[in-house]
Amino acid sequence: MQVVVIGGGLAGLSTAWHLAPHATVRVFERGGAFGAEASAQNAGMIRRMGEDPYERALAVRTSERLADLPDDLAAFEPSTVTGAVLGLVTDPLHLHDAAAHLRARGVRVEALDRPAEVAPLLEGVDLQHAWYLPDERVADAHALVSGFEAGLNANEAHLHRGEAVVSVAVEAGRVVGVRTANGHYPADAVVLAAGAWSSGLAAGMGLDRPLVPLRRTLLQTASDPLAQGHPWTWLDDVGLYVRPESGGWLLSGCDEAIDYPTDAPSTGPVEAFPRALALDKIERFFPRLAGVDIRGGWTGLRTFAPDRRPMLGEDAELPGLWWAAGLGGFGVTCSLGVGEAVSGWMRGLEVPWLDRHAVRPGRRMMRRWSIRPMGDLHRSKLVRVGET
Ligand SMILES: Cc1cc2nc3c(=O)[nH]c(=O)nc-3n(C[C@H](O)[C@H](O)[C@H](O)COP(=O)(O)OP(=O)(O)OC[C@H]3O[C@@H](n4cnc5c(N)ncnc54)[C@H](O)[C@@H]3O)c2cc1C
Repeated sequence: MQVVVIGGGLAGLSTAWHLAPHATVRVFERGGAFGAEASAQNAGMIRRMGEDPYERALAVRTSERLADLPDDLAAFEPSTVTGAVLGLVTDPLHLHDAAAHLRARGVRVEALDRPAEVAPLLEGVDLQHAWYLPDERVADAHALVSGFEAGLNANEAHLHRGEAVVSVAVEAGRVVGVRTANGHYPADAVVLAAGAWSSGLAAGMGLDRPLVPLRRTLLQTASDPLAQGHPWTWLDDVGLYVRPESGGWLLSGCDEAIDYPTDAPSTGPVEAFPRALALDKIERFFPRLAGVDIRGGWTGLRTFAPDRRPMLGEDAELPGLWWAAGLGGFGVTCSLGVGEAVSGWMRGLEVPWLDRHAVRPGRRMMRRWSIRPMGDLHRSKLVRVGET
């Protein structure tokens, strides 16, 4: 089988890495390096306690795999166990279904009566509820990308950096390859793993597959002794997270703003509003960090289907076109699971831990959906898909 993968981010590389021992694989990345877009812009938290059950299935699978990697990938040390606390400020029942699901899968999830004993940052913070996941991880996305790249080289995959796919070639209603500025590359199957750019490429094939990029801001603080050994901590309902990084914190007020990508790199500078939003939430909810010195930050695109569920598998309207996209804010968390599921289906294997139907690309999508400009679950804004 000859496979072309469009996009050298975590989704494309994971799928290619899983396929490479079994197929002739060619990866095209528009940029000069792999993993330089959303896959370089994230906070790296492996979060199994998400809102969507299919995202959770992918996350649980990825986490199991990270705990038991083959030696060649393990050598890159792509993840570390840090533990995680998910706190709820206003909504005591949010995530209870997720906790039940994870416990049924054997994941350790503990309700915390005194969260500050595990997460000192929460000293004096009035929470309705807090969950502790002692085995939760942080991933180094760059290490994962490097590990996938090494495995692809070992399997003699063809890796094209700095070469964009201009269009997908279709003959007699089936995908037959891709075109780049250098010519036509035939393929039995093409994997669309182009992140924020996936919808645009699909539109060129006459497919309406709404995937909406939402820009989010991360801030970096100066060094802080409190960060040492602290679990990453996320106040999920109000939308605020911190994760220890380089002796300080990486933090976000979970801002969301629709922003379609151009041909330029998708990262951007920190704007005044999301910065103020994050710092206001820090003062209100993490008083021990009030006045923290912000040393830098960046923004990036998280790309969602309107139901915030990944878009995976073969496109029923276009045989030979496979999707590994719509990975929103959980593409690191689901990275190994996405590659395993998509490559498995391509090879005709059963993937018993994920319902193929639920994540299929052609599922009916809402034309209006809610985004969370302030990061707060209860202050969402209805927008039309396609609205800028
Ligand atoms: C601020 C922020 C914080 C995040 N935090 C987390 C987190 O803590 N945990 C977590 O699990 N996830 C997090 N994420 C989400 C995660 O980073 C993404 O879901 C994941 O990186 C998506 O990977 P991807 O491969 O789908 O997309 P990308 O990494 O964007 O890769 C797509 C690639 O396709 C290439 N491409 C596009 N068009 C073409 C073309 N025509 N030809 C060839 N190549 C093309 C692009 O150049 C790009 O490299 C975060 C994201 C952001 C922005």
